[in-house]
Amino acid sequence: MKFFDRIFHGSNDIFSVATKAVDAAIAEHGEDATMAMPDTAYNMSCQLAYKGQKVMKLKDLKTALANINEMNTREQRTAAIFKAGIGTAMAGEIIEACKYVNTATPYEGTKYHGHFSDAEVRELGVPLVTNDIPGFVVIIDPAPSEKEAADLIRGYQERGIFVFLVGDIIDQAEAMGIEMGFPVRVVAVGPEIWAVSHVVSFCVRAAMIFGAIEGGDWDGFMEYTFVRLHAFVNAFAPVNDRTLAFGAGAVAMGFPVITNDMNYIRPIPKTILLQPNTKDFIETSLEARDIHIKITKIDIPVAYSTAFEGEIIRRPDMQIEIDGSRKDCFELVEIKDVKEIEDHSIQLFGPDIDEITPGSKMEAAFIVEVGGKNVSPDFASVFERKIHAYLNCASGVMHTGQRDMIRIRISKDDFDNGFRLKHLGEILYAKIKGDHDAIIEKCQVKIYTDPAKCKELRAYANDVFNQRDERLGSLTDETVENFYTCILCQSFSPSHVCIVTPERLGLCGAVSWLDAKASNELDPNGACQIVPHQKCIDERIGAYEDVNEAVKKYSNGALEQVSLYSILEDPMTSCGCFECICGIEPMTSGFVITTRDHVGMTPLGMTFSEMASMTGGGVQTPGYMGHGKHFIASKKFLKAEGGIARVVWMPAALKEQLAEKINATAKDLYGIDNYVDMIPDENDMQDPGDPAELYEILAAKGHPVLGMEPLI
Ligand code: SF4
Ligand code: ZN
Repeated sequence: MKFFDRIFHGSNDIFSVATKAVDAAIAEHGEDATMAMPDTAYNMSCQLAYKGQKVMKLKDLKTALANINEMNTREQRTAAIFKAGIGTAMAGEIIEACKYVNTATPYEGTKYHGHFSDAEVRELGVPLVTNDIPGFVVIIDPAPSEKEAADLIRGYQERGIFVFLVGDIIDQAEAMGIEMGFPVRVVAVGPEIWAVSHVVSFCVRAAMIFGAIEGGDWDGFMEYTFVRLHAFVNAFAPVNDRTLAFGAGAVAMGFPVITNDMNYIRPIPKTILLQPNTKDFIETSLEARDIHIKITKIDIPVAYSTAFEGEIIRRPDMQIEIDGSRKDCFELVEIKDVKEIEDHSIQLFGPDIDEITPGSKMEAAFIVEVGGKNVSPDFASVFERKIHAYLNCASGVMHTGQRDMIRIRISKDDFDNGFRLKHLGEILYAKIKGDHDAIIEKCQVKIYTDPAKCKELRAYANDVFNQRDERLGSLTDETVENFYTCILCQSFSPSHVCIVTPERLGLCGAVSWLDAKASNELDPNGACQIVPHQKCIDERIGAYEDVNEAVKKYSNGALEQVSLYSILEDPMTSCGCFECICGIEPMTSGFVITTRDHVGMTPLGMTFSEMASMTGGGVQTPGYMGHGKHFIASKKFLKAEGGIARVVWMPAALKEQLAEKINATAKDLYGIDNYVDMIPDENDMQDPGDPAELYEILAAKGHPVLGMEPLI
């Protein structure tokens, strides 16, 4: 059979499986049964994206199938195979969706992930823009051997590439002991080829969430996925017609396919590449997609990659644990005169891991001293906060917490491979200096493990932390000369600009004013540019002529004006990777806040995903705004609308996390004690989606919003 005909044949084949799945689902549940994928505001997103069609009930799938059928024209033209390929992905989505008709968790209890939530799509926003994840690979079907499967997966992992596995390669990965899951960026999507549709759904949702591409805009999706998502496919021989049909869809989205099937596949430059040697898959793939990866060489005996950042080391697997909650531990970065620093000196004072009983807790204090002409003392906290990510990226090392509340676990495997404390120092040296080499000239690391010394130094470190907090607390929007832009997210959300101020961090939660300042000094032409705020237009809403000029310039004219402190008048845009979303609640004239981590309903009758879909893509949407968690306790949060007293609902976990700071702000602004207790959460409500019940609870708690002017 000719190459194109094989694609049409595969596409037809998937279409008939989809038709049978729909018939079976309707026979079982009736055609009026609801059809909703869990935790997404973009139900059946492939249908929504490419056809602009909303699927609500099983009967809608009949129309969807008819649409797909029309897409397979069997014309011998490239455009026709692309269409058939996308149709195949849409049919695949239908097959998978039918598994979700009766349950939100059809893959529960299996090793497969299935559908991705909107929160998962959003979570990848920041690592994508910072290039921590330089690309995505979908690996289909079993490799020639288990070892080749493992080598390929690990090779990608070490380069930070996000790996989606489909089909029997998942069993091979399992047999080789590869840890799989969203946090370690190797996801076993599903056992059958149509599970690929979950990845397609992931990509088109990225286009809708970050790029504001609207359903039905076929060309818009094609362009977005090609230009912005650096994805590609590796398919092992023999590639059957079904896989080929999905491959055509991938190619249509701009994702090249690399395969070792030399017999039946016709190569197309930059698009379908033949590579007989699976060992060279990685190189061929990265080249095809033009992905360049900077690898920092670190002198340690274990693998190091951002892919290991989310890895969990369980108690039975740990050699030792450095535990700040039980022992005297801390990590501290200090800025010193370069003359006092011996570059790359890593010293250990006290016993190493060998001398500690396996499985037990130990003291450890890390002091990193850095120096350079342009290193401001304020940057110590910027570097220090990165230690968490830096240490976590070592395979077999887990780090949580900060300052004197750290916990570091080192695995038995790492210990057996010769990993010792000095290697933590090597990581800190290589990353802190390497990532900031434009300003850091010298760096040295001192590690203390002697209990008495750790106790003494901990008191010293706490003094440093206290002084630092006092200094940071005194930084307000009024006291600093400049704000900063951050346009990192423009690689996904082309017109979005964050204006970062001391009292308003970037909406991803990862960029504070100090981070932006440091980033500007490291790379003066980079994402963070200086924004003066001398020409005030309206102090109440935080409108400035110079800020507007900056926003206009850096959004390439997409945005004319923005207010820093209002959600109703010219609010800041949202890119899509925000930690929290807040939205107006008309009955109480207040605002409801929820976070990516909270999957439940809110009193707006919407979940996080649904609220989040009200804004994004760099567009202003008065009444809805994405923001960082720590902005909530700022005196500038909702300032124009009356401040934090307008907050009428938050998830309990978020309240708990921010309680101290929110209470202090409310005390300062309104003289209210324990304000957090007045904000209802999911535990206070019988029906978390009922605004009338919310109103009653607010009245019973004496919440201040009820005494405020109506908003609209
Ligand atoms: Fe993106 Fe804004 Fe965070 Fe920068 S500060 S990474 S633009 S969300
Ligand atoms: Zn973003």
